[in-house]
Amino acid sequence: MSNRDLRPETIAAHALKAIDEATGAVVPPIYMSTTYARDETYTPRLRENYVRNGNPTLWQAEEAIAALEKGPAALLFASGMAAITTLTETVPQGAHVVAPDVMYYGTRDWLKRLESLGRIRLTLFDPRADGALEGALQKGRTDLVWIETPLNPTWDVIDIAAAAKASHAAGAILAVDATATAAVTTQPLMLGADLVFHSATKYLNGHSDVLAGVLVTGEVTDRWRQVAALRTKMGAPLPPFECWLLMRGLRTVYVRYRQASANAMAIARHFSRHPKVERVLYPGLPTHPRHDVAARQMRDGFGGMMSILVRGGFAEAQKLCVRLKVIVPATSLGGVESLAEHRKAVEGPTSPVPDNLVRLSIGIEHPDDLIADLERGLAGS
Ligand SMILES: *Cc1c(COP(=O)(O)O)cnc(C)c1O
Repeated sequence: MSNRDLRPETIAAHALKAIDEATGAVVPPIYMSTTYARDETYTPRLRENYVRNGNPTLWQAEEAIAALEKGPAALLFASGMAAITTLTETVPQGAHVVAPDVMYYGTRDWLKRLESLGRIRLTLFDPRADGALEGALQKGRTDLVWIETPLNPTWDVIDIAAAAKASHAAGAILAVDATATAAVTTQPLMLGADLVFHSATKYLNGHSDVLAGVLVTGEVTDRWRQVAALRTKMGAPLPPFECWLLMRGLRTVYVRYRQASANAMAIARHFSRHPKVERVLYPGLPTHPRHDVAARQMRDGFGGMMSILVRGGFAEAQKLCVRLKVIVPATSLGGVESLAEHRKAVEGPTSPVPDNLVRLSIGIEHPDDLIADLERGLAGS
């Protein structure tokens, strides 16, 4: 039986399992070697014989993630940004790219840089406006549509199936940044996307101790082979030790995600009617403008990511972050420990993010401790 016939929870729990024939070890060794000896006929023993091209630890981690996303192949990169910058290398010179106007700022800045160099043409669309994505597409000219859902840090939701249909009608491929939902809790490839991306630094690893990125394809195309070749040329694969740690984190991805989702829902409900809170942005709330889409394309909860708009402004939002004692005032997301971040202070004055937005990455602690911490922080003590 192939691992692929198993349910995602089982595939994840077995991500690091590979019984070693020689020793019976249940957890395989990490192949740290940078080079691999040829055999007596001078033939490489494996698919690759140099670490930058690939190695057994990398392949094992890639197979686990590809199986979870139900794609034929995955590629792991040294960071999420390494995956994004490698993928954008495959956009033809001068071709058109479409992306949302509010999204992970690292991706937005990178696309804007390519635009300013004349490498690509770029249209940013408002993900809240109906028909905005369709309006941004240029039939026959748009090469790549990059969307993120839920969108960082406003947690707006984009309908993946509708975006895939529109992208394909224009002759473009659709790539989905699904970092905010762990693998398979949203399955972009099953909804028609061509590529799914995760900053594996976040939920997939989940312990705030590995930097990694991954792309999974729906089909092995010439373009996919180009991405793989470019990863080698750009020196961007994930090193073996990180691959091993990532598999170790991946084993618990579902239990972590479900607990984080349940905690986030409790917090969202508690603070959605609070005198110090203007609004809670969370796709799990029925009042969220795209709650129906989120309910359709997310399973196992709505994730641990939310933002709260603090009454007052820039200063009040920042004060809340520094007053918290349980929740850590730090960037990143998807770890077992809860984090709070004042995004405007981080992204700078040109950012479209509201001044009073505090982004919360909810972890797996007891929800009452998190609610009490936020209550204390908002009360000013
Ligand atoms: C963190 C993040 C990235 C970038 O990934 P790194 O692993 O930090 O390079 C991209 N997209 C989203 C939504 C992210 O949260």
